[in-house]
Amino acid sequence: MSESLLLLPGPVTVAPAVLQAMARPMINHRGAAFAELLERIEAALRPAFGTTGDVIVLGGSGTSGLEAAVANTIGAGDRVLACSMGVFGERFAEIARVYGAQVESLPIALGANVDPEALRARLAADADRRIAAVLLTHNETSTGVQCDMAALAPILRAHGALTLVDSVSALGATAFAMDDWGYDVVVSASQKAFAAPPGVAFVAASSRAWERIERVATPRFALDLRRARSAKAGGQTPWTPPLPVLFALDAALQRYAAEGQDAAFARHARYARGVRAALQALGFALFSQPGAHSPTVVAATPPPGIEVAALLARLRERYGVVLSGGQAQLSGKIVRFGTMGDIRERDLLGAIGALELALGELGAGDVRAGGGTAAALEAFAELVPVG
Ligand code: PLP
Repeated sequence: MSESLLLLPGPVTVAPAVLQAMARPMINHRGAAFAELLERIEAALRPAFGTTGDVIVLGGSGTSGLEAAVANTIGAGDRVLACSMGVFGERFAEIARVYGAQVESLPIALGANVDPEALRARLAADADRRIAAVLLTHNETSTGVQCDMAALAPILRAHGALTLVDSVSALGATAFAMDDWGYDVVVSASQKAFAAPPGVAFVAASSRAWERIERVATPRFALDLRRARSAKAGGQTPWTPPLPVLFALDAALQRYAAEGQDAAFARHARYARGVRAALQALGFALFSQPGAHSPTVVAATPPPGIEVAALLARLRERYGVVLSGGQAQLSGKIVRFGTMGDIRERDLLGAIGALELALGELGAGDVRAGGGTAAALEAFAELVPVG
């Protein structure tokens, strides 16, 4: 029996050639070959961030990137507006609190994204510019929701607060133009749309953010972006880098470049569209609100009478399909279906077929064999509009 089909919202299915790159012998991380590797990775990531500036590669998961963003720009007592849409937005806000910020949250219902008008109104009320930074989650993986970052950008720029963006589960899957839109610190990670193994975070900062990074008094050491930037200028990282993950990331980014960024964006959008259509056809209700659907993770509540834990266990144990459940208050309430990684339509169709079987076995009322897969096929072929 082949291995399980991993359709988590991260970590994702990694191509065999990328996995094999991890088995290469170690190299001198203070030598020329490492400098070339780091430079190649940075050059490949810049277009995804939409920046011509530095992209810092940090050993650690996405959360290290979020902590680096906060620790390097936010001082104790700073007022921070957190635009939290779920678990990962809460995490970002919590990190800011740990670093002594006074954090206020913009109220956002679960399943919704940031309403530009609500953000505009809150920032307009801050006439004396006491809000020093705004935290945003580009794509909230816990609810399957994505923000319109192009629409939010001018509102944020008009206020002038520093903008910190968690794009861990969006960058690479959807367009982002850090320099043109004027975002200040943007964080992503290896194990999502770039389809590499976990273990590396990426942080890019605007020149305005670098000024803040240079002068903020917050203590930091391993995540100090000043040290990372100056080491990078010499083709190094300040500390021993996770070489196998970087070898794999390098290989994954070469595959990504060969596909082309626009094709990768279209692929994620098409896959998510197909999965949304299938789930709706099978009696699920999409958790994300219309206009807020994510291209990288589809979150949905199962049909009445179907328990999430039983459904996930059946899919995993009988069909080798690994989906994810909800987190925190959404635990037991939603299923999350990732669309990132080295997967094709046939993988999604297989998983949807398995879902039809599992639903039938668990006693879902009106599951028509082929109903989900047909809806996905129509959506993949772009024959029908999908809400
Ligand atoms: N932010 C978002 C939006 C995420 O999806 C994740 C991981 O799922 C993280 C942050 C945290 O990343 P990590 O688990 O790599 O620390």
